[in-house]
Amino acid sequence: MQLFDFNFNKGSVWLVGAGPGDPGLLTILAYKSIKKADIIFYDALLNEEILSLAKPKTELIYVGKRGNKKSINQLEINKLLVNEAKKNKRVLRLKGGDPFIFGRGGEEALTLKLNNIPYKIVPGTTAGIAGLAYAGIPATHREFNTSITFISAYGAGGEKPDTIDWSSFSKTSQLIVIYMGLERINWVCSELIKRGRDKNENIAIISNATKQNQKTLISTLVNCSKDFDKGIIDSPALLVIGKNVLLSPILDWYVEDKKNINFLKKNYEQHNFI
Ligand code: SAH
Repeated sequence: MQLFDFNFNKGSVWLVGAGPGDPGLLTILAYKSIKKADIIFYDALLNEEILSLAKPKTELIYVGKRGNKKSINQLEINKLLVNEAKKNKRVLRLKGGDPFIFGRGGEEALTLKLNNIPYKIVPGTTAGIAGLAYAGIPATHREFNTSITFISAYGAGGEKPDTIDWSSFSKTSQLIVIYMGLERINWVCSELIKRGRDKNENIAIISNATKQNQKTLISTLVNCSKDFDKGIIDSPALLVIGKNVLLSPILDWYVEDKKNINFLKKNYEQHNFI
C-alpha cells in the first residue's frame, strides 16, 4: 500500500520542518528526505543530532546565525537553494519546527517558484505546539480556551513589531504563545499588564523544548523578568500566557520521564539490575 508520496527528485528543493528538537518528532517525510538529500542547508535551531541521519556523502551547510559572527542573509540563502537545484542535486532546506511558522519558508518558496524550481513543503511540529505538550501544557483545554494566539516578538528587521495590538490580545487572547520573546520578556509582560491583563497571571517560559536540557519556569507576569534573571533559562525559549499554564506542574511528564531515566541509568551503573 502506498501510504505517502515520496518522490524527492534531483533538481528539486524540499523545505522541511524537523520539529523543535527531539528526533522522534521528525515526520516520515522529513526522515526519508534527510536520508536521500545530496545537500542540506540547516539553521541554528536544528538539533544537529538529526544530521547524523544523512548519507556520509551529503554536503551539510550551516546557514544560521551564531553569536556575533557575520551570518549569511536570507537573500543569499535563497540564491544558494536555486543554484544548487540547478546543479541537479536533491536540495534539502531543513529548519527547526515548521518551515511556515516564523521560519521564512514562504520567502524561500517564493524564490523557488519565481525561478521555476520544483519544490515541496514538509510541515514540522512547531515549537509552540510540541514545546507546550512536552511541558505538560495542553494547547487547548475546554474549560480554559477556544483559541490560541501565536506572536513573534521580532519584526522582519529585528525591531519590536508595531503590528502587535497588545490591547486586543490582552482582552481577547485566551492562550498566548510568544516566539523569540525571551530577550524582550520585560516589554512583553509590561505591555500585557498595561493593557489590562492581571499582573498575577501565570506565564511559563519553556526553554530547549523537547530536548534533553528542556527547562520550564513558571512565574507570573509581574515577577517573570526577576525570575528569569536568576539564570535558569536560556534560548531558545517560548513564553506562554494563559490559564492552561496552570496544568504544567500537574501534567509535566517529560521532566518526570527524564528523572526516571536518570534514576534508571544511575542504578544500572551502580547495581547492574536492569
Ligand atoms: N519555525 C520554528 C520557529 C522559528 S522562530 C517553529 O515552528 O518552531 C525561533 C523561535 O522559536 C525561538 O526564538 C523560540 O521562541 C522558538 N523555538 C524554536 N525551537 C524551540 C525549542 N526547542 N524550545 C523553545 N523554543 C523554541
